[in-house]
Amino acid sequence: MRIMDCSTTLVDVPTRRPHGFVDHQISEQSYLIVKVETEDGIVGVGEGVSPGGPWWGGESVEGQKVIIDRYLSQGVVGGDGARIRQIMNVLDRLAYGNHFAKAAVEMALYDALGKALGAPLHVLLGGRVSEERISVRWPLSSRDSEAAVEEANERHGEGFRAFKFKLGAVDPESDVRRVGGMIEQIPRPAMFQVDPNGAWDRRTAMWALEELAAMAVEVVEQPIARRDLSGMADLVRRSTAVEIMADESVCTPADALAAVASRACDSVAVKNGKAGGLDRALSVGSICALSGVRCFGGTALETSIGTAAAAHLCAALPRLDGGCELVGPLLLADDLVVEGVEYQAGQLTIPQRPGLGVEVDWDKVSKYQRRQDAHSNGGIGKPA
Ligand code: MG
Repeated sequence: MRIMDCSTTLVDVPTRRPHGFVDHQISEQSYLIVKVETEDGIVGVGEGVSPGGPWWGGESVEGQKVIIDRYLSQGVVGGDGARIRQIMNVLDRLAYGNHFAKAAVEMALYDALGKALGAPLHVLLGGRVSEERISVRWPLSSRDSEAAVEEANERHGEGFRAFKFKLGAVDPESDVRRVGGMIEQIPRPAMFQVDPNGAWDRRTAMWALEELAAMAVEVVEQPIARRDLSGMADLVRRSTAVEIMADESVCTPADALAAVASRACDSVAVKNGKAGGLDRALSVGSICALSGVRCFGGTALETSIGTAAAAHLCAALPRLDGGCELVGPLLLADDLVVEGVEYQAGQLTIPQRPGLGVEVDWDKVSKYQRRQDAHSNGGIGKPA
């Protein structure tokens, strides 16, 4: 299954509403669409993304394009598409790091292999462990409390029963009180998670954990800095009611080993992009499962292309606790596929067709392709 071509396209897709992170908010999300073609004419598609821009993981979609076009593609073209892990080893020798870029290439290779074999991606990853549908936690934007409550009520009506608040945009005390106020206005049953993206110091986190536990918040994701594993371990020891989830602290399998060795988390948000691909994200899941650490399906605000890949990954993880937060297609004003991934009553259906199981709409890719003269940065404003 010789790979004959590997090409990339930058696109900017508008979001339905502004989505707020710690320091800024976005009104469009950028993606890098990777296309590989085999000697038999099979096309595989992958998607590179850096959620909300390079602030989260350091990589940008623009950087991913350069590293793939100029360096990684030479390790892909001419390679055997049935030997994906071997190709990934070659890519590691061509460029250190660049996990999101490598994940985008690997996704395209898996899509092509699945299509060639007539097998859905989760079968190639070891088969489905999860049910056919997985529950989805709904993320609420950091900024406007009134709009967030309205949105939560609407989504609760559709069947969503778990909500995640992005924190860190204002001072911790107002932030925590604001969440408490919103929680009171959201119908039950519902579970709540917060994610300050590492914005707190240790002492603030200890104070916040007690406050949040009293508000029935069940999960706090990445309360403190990603490198502070001993601080994370302290929080795990002190917190009985609230689960401490690692996101930024655990990207790769090596990070997962370090985190479980220092007991730095109760759970991990597993993501394909930050891990450097599906195969490595599966390794993160295996390390967690062997260590009694829970796994949750994290998002990078993917279109239906990346969401399908992440859904297959979630399905194949040895354990998945609490489902996922794969809401990308629902936050976007448009999609890049003929028929988007399917949501039903707050659950995401694992695609069943070969490869990723979604058909790319190339007219949409052209429509949202970044113009050569555009100076778009994906709608990212200056930090507040
Ligand atoms: Mg997070």
